[in-house]
Amino acid sequence: MADITNQSLNDIIENLKKKKVSSTDLTKAYIKNIESAKKLNAFVTTTFDQALDKAKQFDKKPNFDQLLPGIPLAVKDLFCTENIKTTAGSNILNNFIPSYESTVTKNLWDNGSFLLGKLNCDEFAMGSSNETSHYGNVINPVGDQLVPGGSSGGSSSALAADLTPATIGTDTGGSIRQPASFTGTVGLKPTYGLCSRWGIVAFASSLDQAGPMTKTIKDCAIMLESMSGFDEKDSTSINKKKEQYSKNLKDNIKGLKIGIPKEYRVDNMPKEIDELWEKGKKILKDLGAQLIDISLPHTKYALPTYYIVAPAEASSNLARYDGVRYGYRSKQGKDLIEMYEKTRSEGFGDEVKRRILIGTYVLSSGYYDAYYLKAQKVRQLIKKDFDDSFTKIDAILTPSTPSSAFKIGEKTNDPVSMYLNDIFTVPVNLAGLPALSLPAGVDKKGFPLGLQLIGKALDEQKILNIGYAFEKNCGFKNEIKKWWS
Ligand code: GLN
Repeated sequence: MADITNQSLNDIIENLKKKKVSSTDLTKAYIKNIESAKKLNAFVTTTFDQALDKAKQFDKKPNFDQLLPGIPLAVKDLFCTENIKTTAGSNILNNFIPSYESTVTKNLWDNGSFLLGKLNCDEFAMGSSNETSHYGNVINPVGDQLVPGGSSGGSSSALAADLTPATIGTDTGGSIRQPASFTGTVGLKPTYGLCSRWGIVAFASSLDQAGPMTKTIKDCAIMLESMSGFDEKDSTSINKKKEQYSKNLKDNIKGLKIGIPKEYRVDNMPKEIDELWEKGKKILKDLGAQLIDISLPHTKYALPTYYIVAPAEASSNLARYDGVRYGYRSKQGKDLIEMYEKTRSEGFGDEVKRRILIGTYVLSSGYYDAYYLKAQKVRQLIKKDFDDSFTKIDAILTPSTPSSAFKIGEKTNDPVSMYLNDIFTVPVNLAGLPALSLPAGVDKKGFPLGLQLIGKALDEQKILNIGYAFEKNCGFKNEIKKWWS
């Protein structure tokens, strides 16, 4: 049959069911792709032998009552995987082999899939380009000089290059949606608490959320259904009935009210982004949705608020890396204190150190009220803007990112311009809401661009439905030439 690896997850499952392909052949096809895509540097660890064993077991006793029957999956290296190295893109975890499995990955395996490998990411998920990883840059399959976005850059690159049929990332301030946008793929950040954080290497615990990255909306629904669910091991997990997102997918969006926030038309926004937004509005309008102008007045404070709250939480979360209990330990250091210092200065990269410094500063006595406390208050105002708007509308449409993928090295010496990349994505994390990035078009260089749909808390089904209708009518096709193999 034709190349199975460029099909959607849903089509692959259908082909497995119809016995057009076996799980073993499918797994071998991905292994072959991964082996010929070393240039992309998307993987930190591969687990081919184990994957082939699992595929063989599945083929001997196939079970199609599961959501992900016989599906090999590569996942971001931020999810702890039992007995398999988990680095979080950091040198400080270069020898960390967890003795437990994250709840989200366990849910995926319980639904019939198995691990193909661990995907590169920005160090501790701090970054927008995958350039902060200790394990090197990841290349965007869209172009050999381009970043794949971050922090889930290995995930977006592997997905777009057909190295995994679907994948998962984490999104603290945009790390699923921005790389999805840069690679012409679908990425969903679920409502905070929908997917368990248990076993995910922590960055900023009040913002971190795992979510699917896929080629289509249907695939996104399948993955979300497989990975989400209440988990008593995560105190912020939402205890609610599981939804059947893929079964309930509908493309009728007639009468839905879509909010268009004026604050997302930022200064110096490239014309192409504006045009893409207009195109998105037209598609939704033509499908019978009603466009409503809304205002989210505190939007301009979202980025500074995020870059106080996230580093504050990170500085606290990362205090555990002391070289004593697990992870890297410096061989230098005459005494305990010096060992701590050397471990942390050798183990962490520059961006992580920058965040720890900012976080420690905004939490220090004397500055706590002026920065951290103030940011927490502004966070509430940002959330209230959304709450007020959602009394009048069903969803919000915005661009996902202020630009298409940029070149490797282009922003590394200018952290503020790197942080500006998150301008459209961070408000959603601060408010705990679900948001979907949809591939919607290309810029004049031919690089993909995404649009973002934001929903009310726990309204994943609705934004998936809008995305489904949009996908059928937008005419976007992700055409990536395989220059790397
Ligand atoms: N780019 C943002 C940051 O560096 C978001 C990262 C993320 O969502 N993990 O903090």
